[in-house]
Amino acid sequence: MSKPLIAITGASSGIGEATAKAFSAAGHPLLLMARRLERMQALNLPNTLCKQVDVRDRASIAEAVDAAQEMYGPVDCLFNNAGIARLGDIGKQPPEEWDETIDINIKGVMNALHPVFNGMKERRGGTIVNMSSIAGRKLYPDHTVYCGSKFFVHAISESLRGYLAPYDVRVIVISPGIIETEVLDHVNDPDTLKAYKDNKQRIGGGIAASHVADMIVFAYQMPQNVLIQEMVVTPTRQEY
Ligand code: NDP
Repeated sequence: MSKPLIAITGASSGIGEATAKAFSAAGHPLLLMARRLERMQALNLPNTLCKQVDVRDRASIAEAVDAAQEMYGPVDCLFNNAGIARLGDIGKQPPEEWDETIDINIKGVMNALHPVFNGMKERRGGTIVNMSSIAGRKLYPDHTVYCGSKFFVHAISESLRGYLAPYDVRVIVISPGIIETEVLDHVNDPDTLKAYKDNKQRIGGGIAASHVADMIVFAYQMPQNVLIQEMVVTPTRQEY
């Protein structure tokens, strides 16, 4: 196997799925992780291990990483992408939705990093791509805990970047605006959903997940001494 292993969380749909296809097309073996195993298997990508993983379960991510590394060698790139968007009016939102957001978007991100980054440090190479959002840089109505979770991603990424830089390990943050995926399926507040959809329609819709995937592959393919620290991508008409 000439090309190194790429691990992706949240690979069963949307941006994760698009990025899996893009890395596969570039010839990489893959570890795909998400809860919907059949969706990942249906992609039918070569040299790919699909594992049913809930990112809230730290042990199951570690087991999946071990199994993939056994087959394909060390993880050279982690796309730490799994996440949900439970947007809603903070005064009315059930705190269980806050818990879910924190458990998946915050703790899940740390859980995926844990089995990967020390190995990269020891090998003195590797790339971590953490999925944030434009909502990790700016505040939006009804995004209270979601914004908090994505601001978290920026904070730990900046810290990890400094920690890993002397070992030539790259930490990239990608912050998309409105991308056409299943992400809105997780919004339960009808008023929030309507406002989001109205705004999306006003700007002419979101952009395809494949564009985000192409950016990630581009950043990864730069020489190891070149680090694109942050990428922000939105539809051209998304003015804020
Ligand atoms: P999708 O809903 O299509 O994809 C989300 C992915 O995350 C799915 O593969 C889902 O898999 C996985 N996931 C969710 N919860 C868990 C869990 N507990 N354990 C494992 N996997 C999980 O939406 P996107 O592709 O849009 O979302 C991907 C990332 O991009 C998210 O972090 C999101 O916050 C971020 N983002 C999206 C934007 C957009 O406009 N679409 C904008 C900015 C950021 P499964 O359900 O099978 O477990």
